[in-house]
Amino acid sequence: MAGILFIISAPSGSGKSTLVNELRRIVPNLEFSISYTTRAPRGSERNGMEYYFITRPEFERMIAHDEFLEYAEVFGCDYYGTARRFLQEATARGKDLLLDIDVQGAAQVKSRVQNSVGILVVPPSRQVLEKRLRTRSISEGSVSDEVIERRLTEARKEIENFPNYDYILVNDRLEDSVELLESIVLSERLKSSGKVLSPEEVRMVQTAEQCLQTAKTTSSKLKEVLASFAPAISG
Ligand code: ADP
Ligand code: 5GP
Repeated sequence: MAGILFIISAPSGSGKSTLVNELRRIVPNLEFSISYTTRAPRGSERNGMEYYFITRPEFERMIAHDEFLEYAEVFGCDYYGTARRFLQEATARGKDLLLDIDVQGAAQVKSRVQNSVGILVVPPSRQVLEKRLRTRSISEGSVSDEVIERRLTEARKEIENFPNYDYILVNDRLEDSVELLESIVLSERLKSSGKVLSPEEVRMVQTAEQCLQTAKTTSSKLKEVLASFAPAISG
């Protein structure tokens, strides 16, 4: 049987990589698609681990050969793409696959792959996002105000894409977010298994449902997040 395709997106600095790393550690049978990118490696990143780092001509050759399930030019400067072969290989093995991709790529995949579940991770507020972006930049050895400002501007636009996602995860306390993300993955597996659920499994599904994009709690939280990104004085 084909597995479930989980798509996870977030404005840069929201904590998506941190959450994905935790998820991969605690949830078995979840394969991770390693994207191709033309951006340079950051910090301790290594080719074939976080990304396959390739040149622009190499990326364009892969586009010409139709090797991507989706690709996008992120921040208007670098290409990022998911190779079709990751989905084909995971499908052949009946495994679930996790894609960590931006909102443009997520929209492409959602329209092309039926059995997919979209999760948007968002920061609790603009202020918290700015702090996380700065902390990460310091630990990586460079803080560019211009880059941080651009990422904050992009963040609002990305969060406004929330209707394209099934689940919204406001990454406030890390421990809570890890638990919620795990419950989303496990409850989607339970739902697609069609089996009769135990009381514990029902609770797991209910936990995940708190993050459904359509849930009341989610929409009021999202309103607060978006409000924090609004200009101080509106014209
Ligand atoms: P992304 O992958 O979304 O760009 P990262 O996972 O690199 O973001 O996280 C950005 C920064 O925020 C990192 O320094 C990370 O340790 C920190 N961080 C992530 N999640 C949380 C959280 N829930 N609370 C506090 N700090 C967090
Ligand atoms: P970063 O450079 O911070 O690793 O990633 C920048 C953005 O590119 C993130 O939002 C990340 O999710 C996105 N991204 C990473 N891989 C892919 C991919 O294969 N396709 C698309 N569309 N976006 C990707």
